[in-house]
Amino acid sequence: MAFKNLNLIEPILKALALEGYHTPTPIQKQAIPLVLSGKDLLGCAQTGTGKTAAFSIPMIQLLHEQKKHRFGIKALILTPTRELAIQIDESLAAYSRFTSLRHTVIFGGVSQNQQTIALKKGVDILVATPGRLLDLINQRFIDLKQLQFFVLDEADRMLDMGFIHDVKKVISLLPSKRQTLFFSATMPPEIQKLADTLLTNPSKVEV
Ligand code: AMP
Repeated sequence: MAFKNLNLIEPILKALALEGYHTPTPIQKQAIPLVLSGKDLLGCAQTGTGKTAAFSIPMIQLLHEQKKHRFGIKALILTPTRELAIQIDESLAAYSRFTSLRHTVIFGGVSQNQQTIALKKGVDILVATPGRLLDLINQRFIDLKQLQFFVLDEADRMLDMGFIHDVKKVISLLPSKRQTLFFSATMPPEIQKLADTLLTNPSKVEV
């Protein structure tokens, strides 16, 4: 099976070809059609399975196809570490290169100046770690009123790293009408509970 059988549009197919991707991975085959159809997703998958493309590609397609482009963050990808955040942002750059969507990444441990400059220019897709995100929300550099997509990446690691309180705080600030994609390698009870409160009638994908 090829990417073109997944109903993907030409700007995305071109970008994937340029990346040298020929065949979708199992999680991509399962997740892409579900996300394109508007479903919430509960994904049990580790890093290395192609999960970043599984959630990014359909989200980029849905946002690209929206005609009116209002100013504001339309998709938020929350991930536990700076390294993962940077990797996801690089993947977004690759997959969205033939669209006009703008993305940026914010994380702690560095000056916020470059990050706020990028935010002020306008961002459609934001990749963030929880602490810096809350900081910049509190300082009014970030407003999530236009949010349509929320991706929680590596939920179990958020718990392990002590970020679960920050994650819940972020969730409390999101518009309730949105599509949510939830990824975790393991499903301990606290993470299952979070998934239950966060997702509406989700489809489950496992690899
Ligand atoms: P991830 O699990 O999202 O961290 O992705 C793991 C690695 O697989 C990354 O380096 C991706 O660029 C690569 N990758 C993801 N999907 C595909 C694909 N369909 N074909 C080839 N490589 C891929």
